[in-house]
Amino acid sequence: MATTSYAIALGSNRRHVRHGGPEGVVRAAVAALGELGEVEGVSAIHRTPALGPAGRSFANAALLLASELPPLELLAAIKRIERRFGRRPGRRWGPRVLDLDIILWSQGAFRAPRLAIPHPEMARRDFVLRPLAEIAAEWRDPLSGRSVRQLAALRTRNRS
Ligand code: ATP
Ligand code: CA
Ligand code: CA
Repeated sequence: MATTSYAIALGSNRRHVRHGGPEGVVRAAVAALGELGEVEGVSAIHRTPALGPAGRSFANAALLLASELPPLELLAAIKRIERRFGRRPGRRWGPRVLDLDIILWSQGAFRAPRLAIPHPEMARRDFVLRPLAEIAAEWRDPLSGRSVRQLAALRTRNRS
């Protein structure tokens, strides 16, 4: 398949024996994602207070990856990386060493039983939009037609 671009969100809220705290995990995950293609941009690492039952605060970042992998193969590859980092199946929102989500794809929307791009929650999540706005502010969500910059600004305005 031809090379296409993906925006990927990274998150961690647990230590890893070798990589250290959540920031170290995210940095190591950036290197691991580099095995899947060419990393074209990486945001700063943001600290996000814990939501729900997770307990500990998250380190979040966003990354742009140019890759020859089609969407379902990329999903399989990022799940392999999550497992390599010691993630075990468990509660959504629970503590996890590493979470990698596919947020946007240069070819537009993609839907399969186990994969939805754009990520259905992207427009509601500051911890996705803020890092992504640093590296892909003009990238448009194909469903709403709004850019990442606009979506991030809407979140900020609507927060009370
Ligand atoms: P959320 O999707 O709300 O961020 P989560 O990341 O905690 O929740 P996971 O347990 O990591 O959820 O993933 C559950 C399933 O979501 C995955 O096994 C995968 O098949 C599916 N999925 C659907 N769309 C995507 C996407 N865009 N990126 C990653 N996984 C996705
Ligand atoms: Ca997620
Ligand atoms: Ca996930």
